Parts: sequence; C-alpha cells; structure tokens
Amino acid sequence: MLILSTSSEDLLMCSRLLKNGNTVAVPTETVYGLAANALDEDAVKRIFLAKGRPADNPLIIHISDISMFPEYCFPTRSAFLLADNFWPGPLTVILPKKTVVPSAVTAGLSSVAVRMPSHPVAKRIISLCGFPLAAPSANISGKPSPTRFEHVVNDLSRNEFVAAAIDGGRCECGVESTVVSLIGDHPCLLRPGAVTVEMLRTVVPDLTVADAVLQKLPQNEKALSPGLKHKHYAPAAETVCLTGSAESSLRYIKARAEGKKTAVICFDGEEEIFSDYTVIPYGLPEKPETLAENVFAALRKADGIKDCERIFVRCAPPEGKGLAVYNRLLRASDFKVVNTEEYV
Ligand code: AMP
Ligand code: MG
Repeated sequence: MLILSTSSEDLLMCSRLLKNGNTVAVPTETVYGLAANALDEDAVKRIFLAKGRPADNPLIIHISDISMFPEYCFPTRSAFLLADNFWPGPLTVILPKKTVVPSAVTAGLSSVAVRMPSHPVAKRIISLCGFPLAAPSANISGKPSPTRFEHVVNDLSRNEFVAAAIDGGRCECGVESTVVSLIGDHPCLLRPGAVTVEMLRTVVPDLTVADAVLQKLPQNEKALSPGLKHKHYAPAAETVCLTGSAESSLRYIKARAEGKKTAVICFDGEEEIFSDYTVIPYGLPEKPETLAENVFAALRKADGIKDCERIFVRCAPPEGKGLAVYNRLLRASDFKVVNTEEYV
C-alpha cells in the first residue's frame, strides 16, 4: 500500500489510481473511507474483497457538487432541503436509484445512499476524478471504524486489494455519517451521526427513528438498512457498556473483574477512580462530540491490550450527538448495557 500525503501532486496521483479502478483509503470528516469509482463494478467489488464486507451491505456514494446529485438518484423536495441545510457534511440520504449506479454498490437494492462530504481532501479527489466514490469505512469488516491514519495502516497496509492510503490526520466527527431514508412515507433515521435528530427535525419535522437505532433487531426481521444487522465495531474481548455514576460503575467492575485482565474506557477525569485497571479516557459526557471523536480510537486501544479479556465502557445518555456514540457502543458490545445503579 502506497502512502500518500495531502499535497496536490499526491491527490492527483490518488485520482489516477482511482480512475484505473484501484481502491484508495481517504480521509473524510466522519471516518477514513476506502474509496473506489462507484460507477465501476469491478472497482466496487475490490472494496468488498479488501474489507471482507458482506455483499448484502450496500455502500454510500460520495459526490462533490450538488449538480451530481440527480445524476445517480431521484431526489425529492425533502432531499434538496436536507442537502441545502447539511451538505457538504456528515449526512447521507437514501433515495430511489438511477440505473447508472451498479447493483454491486447498492447490494441489489433499488435505492442508493448519497452523501456530499465536507472534508477538503475528499471533495478535491472526487472533483479530480469527475465520478462519485463509493467509500465505506476503511477498516476490516466488523472492526471499529478508522478515525486516525494509523488505524488504516494497521488494518490495510498489507491488503492486496488496497493500492494507497492518504494520511489526512485525525477525523473530526469520529463517527460515520447520519443516514436518513427518504424512501417511505416519512423520512426515517437509520443511523445516528453528527447531524442529530433535533437538527434534522428543523428541516423534516416528521422524521421518525428506526427501532434498530437503539434495539437489537429480532432474528429474521428484515433490516431497513442492511448494515444494521451485521456485527459491528467490536473488539475481540467481551465488551460491556455501563451507565450510572463512576462509583457504582467501579463497584460493578470490581465484583466482576475476577482477576481477568480488564480495560475501562472512562470519561476524562475518572482515570484515578479506575486506576486498578487499564484506563482509556475518551472525552466528557457533557460534550458528547468529544466522545464521538475518540470512541473508535478507544475501542481499538482496548482491543490492542495484550490478553485483555474484558472491556467496560462508561456510556453517556443517548441524546443529541450522544445518540451516535451510544448506538456504536451498543453494537460494539452486542447490546450489553448495564445500569450499574441497580447493582448496589
Ligand atoms: P458504511 O459505508 O460502512 O458507513 O455503511 C453504510 C450504511 O448505509 C450501512 O449501514 C448500509 O446498510 C446503509 N445503506 C447504504 N445504502 C443503503 C440503501 N440503499 N438502503 C438502506 N441502507 C443503506
Ligand atoms: Mg463501516
């Protein structure tokens, strides 16, 4: 894997690689994406091979200009309103697709997910290419998404299906885009992100929230968004989310650590309280955007601790930007959430 900078020459080189059907890991404001020409079926298949991504999990296509929007889908009035308010930025909309979009991108669905990123590097590459980029997170499927360049290097540097990666530093949001489906009678939030429910409702007041955002899908139930049914963001060690005070969380952990090597992903300032364990602070609950920025890096750090058997994560309420963090932690822990105040 070739390592590229964000210099003009390197971005030109990146666009050449993409024009030739290669995949390249690129920084965006959400997480690093593994990009390929969304209109080239073979290039898109290379993304699935590189990630080991299930073929039934569709990809988001990324555009750099509003004029590209109606080329690949049939935007509604709500779609243009959302685009006006939140693009470029971390919002994806799902709309009926046009036939130019290969079915490998949409996993055979008749709809397509579209986003216009705000990251200057991502935008520049799409403009240089002149075609949309399909770009899921640049990690091995199932692992936490990459929000630092070193995460991309860890996951993909020896991957035969990845030609290059651009070092763009840290990703600002740290969680993937908000996904809103505009297919049904009402706009429906399928995945929470940095564009919150409250922000969306200022534009589309009838927005609903899919059950799968906060609940485990019952087996056999058809997922509105196929990505919701796959195991996600998961470290190898058993991961449990804890709500309640730091003190009750400590009591809970003490009673269950059982001499096993344990990591605690805690809020900033709580390091002392959990100092019997490996502590990984990840931000402040009253500033959920700090938790979002660091949550995947924290999960990866915990996953990298040798022989770590248990990971406990202090969890903030599922409100505002905290909803996206909560949603990712639910998936990382396979929905294991404990209110530690109930265990005295
Ligand atoms: P990722 O690219 O890994 O951030 O994931 C993209 C998310 O968007 C996944 O949860 C997909 O299931 C979802 N998605 C992409 N295209 C569609 C679509 N046409 N209909 C519903 N969900 C979609
Ligand atoms: Mg992903």
